[in-house]
Amino acid sequence: MKNNIYVIGANLYGCLTAAKLAKKNKNSNIVLVDSADQILNTFQSIKLKNYKINNGFHSIEIPRANALVNFLRKEIKVDLKIIPNIRKILINNFLVREENSNNYPENLKKHFKKKKINTSDHKIFLGSLSKTMKKHYVKVSKRYAQNFFDVKHFFIPWFFPTNYTYKSNDEGDRFRKKVRSGKIKAYYVLPKNGLIEELRTPFIKYFRKIKNIKMMLNTNVGYHENQLFLFSKNFKNNFFPKDKIYLCVPPLFLLKKNETLYKKIFCNKRYLANMLIRLPTTTKKIEFTEIISCHKELKELARISNYSLYKSIKNYQLVQIELILNKINKINLKNIYRKLKNILSFFSHKKKLINFKVIDLKITRSMFYPKIEDVNKVKKYFIRNLEKLPYNINYNFFLGPVNMSKQWKFSEKFKKI
Ligand SMILES: Cc1cc2nc3c(=O)[nH]c(=O)nc-3n(C[C@H](O)[C@H](O)[C@H](O)COP(=O)(O)OP(=O)(O)OC[C@H]3O[C@@H](n4cnc5c(N)ncnc54)[C@H](O)[C@@H]3O)c2cc1C
Repeated sequence: MKNNIYVIGANLYGCLTAAKLAKKNKNSNIVLVDSADQILNTFQSIKLKNYKINNGFHSIEIPRANALVNFLRKEIKVDLKIIPNIRKILINNFLVREENSNNYPENLKKHFKKKKINTSDHKIFLGSLSKTMKKHYVKVSKRYAQNFFDVKHFFIPWFFPTNYTYKSNDEGDRFRKKVRSGKIKAYYVLPKNGLIEELRTPFIKYFRKIKNIKMMLNTNVGYHENQLFLFSKNFKNNFFPKDKIYLCVPPLFLLKKNETLYKKIFCNKRYLANMLIRLPTTTKKIEFTEIISCHKELKELARISNYSLYKSIKNYQLVQIELILNKINKINLKNIYRKLKNILSFFSHKKKLINFKVIDLKITRSMFYPKIEDVNKVKKYFIRNLEKLPYNINYNFFLGPVNMSKQWKFSEKFKKI
């Protein structure tokens, strides 16, 4: 009889791990477990009227994730396409590229007081801004959380010019630094129709071909008295001591024992609203893949992305808008529309208000932004409690959504164990 190796979580991380372990351990069964009824469940697209779109802008960054892209193409046989990576930054009414502050318009440049900085200290980043701009950034950061410190990674280095660099050893940060300095040209990769969910069918086909992979869907991993078990509507099975488990999800089930920590992690809830709009035919053609926003009139506006890159609809330009909302019962669509008309005036030849058409708006995700100190507490708690379990558990810590390049790197680490 073959022994079982369990991979928990059929997200991209889990699917990559299962595929790699199955090749390496031909004499073991790889059991891929997920509580959802399908693999890659969180990649599910959303429907806004007749349009299918990603639940928030998603893409695989190259060359950062070249190895992942090669694997998806050659091994999983996914049909992928490369699109440009043109990120623009909207700071109030200034729309700029990721560029040196010397190239900024004078009225924006004056708010960035230092010639250059290279630090990991958020206080130095904030201190390099004029008083007005510092106040503005701190105010906009409240779309995520009360303290700028806890969400600084959404602002640094994104809303700073390229002569302000973030010192870090993280592979993502190092890649970003090279792109921003112009040493590397970055592109995005996505399935042909732009939908990240299109990775699902090729993975299912691949898993069906590989004899030692078994998918166990609609199945949860639970925790009770220092034991883990698998359960669904119809059964409950304990793991055996020394079972080999590759954990590709945060072990939130462990927090059952620690209500205080659980509450801290899930206390700060926000909602992602996705909106699809159609710009009038007369608008200026602006080259962009995504525009990240830090705007005083609508601090909830996080990103504007170019849907027309995947689907061209006659002469119209379709644009996806992402809003981070604090409360959903208070959405004032009229107010959002009025503010956006002005904010989007960079699409107008004469900087006039833009009369766009709202195709649809939906709340599509709940998101949580815990304090960094609580994330660190959870990390210690997870590691301490996983060590106490009587299994052979392999685990890389993360809590929120992880970039796909990182998921590849985590699965590579697992392959080597
Ligand atoms: C708005 C947004 C935009 C993004 N953009 C990008 C981007 O441009 N580029 C990029 O690389 N990444 C991006 N990401 C990150 C990336 O896509 C995330 O990895 C992904 O969204 C998070 O989902 P996941 O499938 O990885 O993991 P999870 O949501 O953690 O999925 C875990 C899976 O495990 C299952 N599960 C959980 N607990 C258990 C349990 N106890 N028992 C059994 N099963 C369990 C769940 O059912 C689920 O299917 C983005 C994320 C968001 C939210």
